[in-house]
Formats: sequence, C-alpha cells, structure tokens
Amino acid sequence: MSYKSIDFSQYASIKIGPVVDVFVIEEEHYPHDAYLIGGANNVLLSPTPPPLMVLSKTYDYIKIENGRLIIGAATPGGKVVSFCKRHNIANFEFMAHLPGTVGGMVKMNAGLKEWEIFNHLYALKLESGYCLKESMEYGYRYCGLESIVWEAQFTIEEGFEAKRLEMFASMRRNQPKAFSAGSCFKNPKDDYAGRLIEAVHLKGVRCGSMAFSEIHANFLVNCGGGTFDDALSLIRLAEQRVHEQFGIQLEREIIVLDTRSDVKMT
Ligand SMILES: Cc1cc2nc3c(=O)[nH]c(=O)nc-3n(C[C@H](O)[C@H](O)[C@H](O)COP(=O)(O)OP(=O)(O)OC[C@H]3O[C@@H](n4cnc5c(N)ncnc54)[C@H](O)[C@@H]3O)c2cc1C
Repeated sequence: MSYKSIDFSQYASIKIGPVVDVFVIEEEHYPHDAYLIGGANNVLLSPTPPPLMVLSKTYDYIKIENGRLIIGAATPGGKVVSFCKRHNIANFEFMAHLPGTVGGMVKMNAGLKEWEIFNHLYALKLESGYCLKESMEYGYRYCGLESIVWEAQFTIEEGFEAKRLEMFASMRRNQPKAFSAGSCFKNPKDDYAGRLIEAVHLKGVRCGSMAFSEIHANFLVNCGGGTFDDALSLIRLAEQRVHEQFGIQLEREIIVLDTRSDVKMT
C-alpha cells in the first residue's frame, strides 16, 4: 500500500486545497471509501476533503492494438495529442487545450463545442470488465459511470490536422488566464451559464480573492490566495440569484469535495 503527499494548493488548477496523503492505486486495488482524483482540473477541495486516491503511473500509457487506440486513464491529454501527431491520427486535437487525464475527461465527457471525448470512444475498461460505448449513458459534460475507468479504447481515423490546433487555441483566447477549474456551471439547455451570471450582476464580483472573471463570468478565478469558503460563497450566491431571477437551477460543473456536505464517491 502506498500513499503520496499532494499539496492541492499547488496541484489543483484552481490552487485551493490542503496537503493530503493520497492513496496511490496499483493493480486495481483501492480503498472503497476514497474519492478518485485525476489531474484535479475540475475539483474544488475544502480544508476537510474526503479520503482521496490517484492512479499510479502504470495507468499512464498509449498504444495501438488491433486497430484501436488504447490509452491508460492516468494519461494526460497533451501526451495523447503528441502521440496522435506522431502516428497521424485524427480527432484528438481538441485535447491539446483541455487540461486533465483521460480518466477525468471520460467521467466529465470533456470537450470543446462539438468535439467531445465520447465521440470516438469505442470501449472502457472498468472494474466489471470491458464496456462498449453503446451500453453507456452519456451527454453534455456527463457520463453515468459510477466505476473507476482504468483504460479507454478509441476508434482510429487517419489524418492529424495541425490547423485544428490553432482553431482550438483561438477558442481559448477569450478565456481567463487566472487559476480556475474551467467552467463553474454547466450551460442550461438553450442558454449560457455565463450569460445568467452576468445578468444577475455577478460578473467581476469578488469575495476575498475569488471572483467571477471579468473576462468570462462562468470562470470562478483565484486572484491569489483565494480560499474554499470564498469560492463556495460565490458559487452559492450565483445559484441563489439565478434561481430567484430566472427560476433556473444552475448545475455545478465544478466538483466540490467537502466532508461537511454531501460528497458523491466515484
Ligand atoms: C483552464 C481550464 C479550462 C477548461 N476547459 C474545459 C473545456 O473547455 N471543456 C471541458 O469539458 N472541460 C474543461 N475544463 C475542465 C477539465 O479540463 C475537465 O473536466 C477534465 O476532464 C478534468 O480532468 P482531470 O483529470 O483533471 O479530472 P479531475 O478534475 O481530477 O476529476 C474530475 C472527475 O473525474 C473523475 N475521475 C478522474 N479520473 C477518473 C478515472 N480514472 N475514472 C473515473 N473517474 C475519474 C473524478 O472522480 C471527478 O469526478 C477546464 C479546466 C481548466 C482548469
């Protein structure tokens, strides 16, 4: 059994969180009361998070087998893009500007506009064995999986497109550079969370060192030394105001991990 100490104020993209001894998963053995973290690009940790675990480096691999692209769940997206460039494989260019591991991307069905990780997914290796995409429930930033993903398998199409990299980079240019966990809320059907946050006058509003960005209101940014409580206050304020003014219940995209509230384990 091995643990490693992770300082989440450095590791998490939003730069908030305590130092935690995190269980490192080898050979599919893990504590069932712990919450799985990938690259921590979509999470907000309280000072008292649940027990945590991460996949070891043995889950960081990419290979081509039987005409499919086989990727370990701990593999970072940037590495997938480099591999696809080297092997002239299409459709993974969007990962160049999407921070995270393949396991985290699958769980979130992460993507940019119509490019999503499920588009070219073939199957996942789960605890119960291999599971084909057809038998899975998934949608916008959602996948119904309750299990750990060990590996993802994708269909291969030829033709890496370098010019798509520039297109994805330009989509990013209007987003804040400050530390964040990406979008704070999912877009409600036929609307935009950023528009709603702006409409309730929270764009640019600060609580301590946390703020809804001036550049893009749906980005909850850490201006330096922001705390969990400030972040959560802003999240709750946006939820409350949008509900009061529009009758819309914003759904969080950011995953709040706090033992003081309800935490859903993976
Ligand atoms: C600046 C910035 C921009 C972003 N832009 C986008 C964007 O355009 N589109 C988008 O979709 N997202 C975006 N994100 C969010 C983030 O990139 C994605 O959610 C990504 O999928 C997170 O991956 P991760 O490995 O960091 O997962 P984590 O944040 O560590 O975890 C996210 C979820 O995945 C689960 N998980 C992690 N690994 C596994 C596994 N092996 N098996 C099962 N579950 C697992 C965790 O339990 C958790 O529920 C952005 C984030 C940042 C910081």
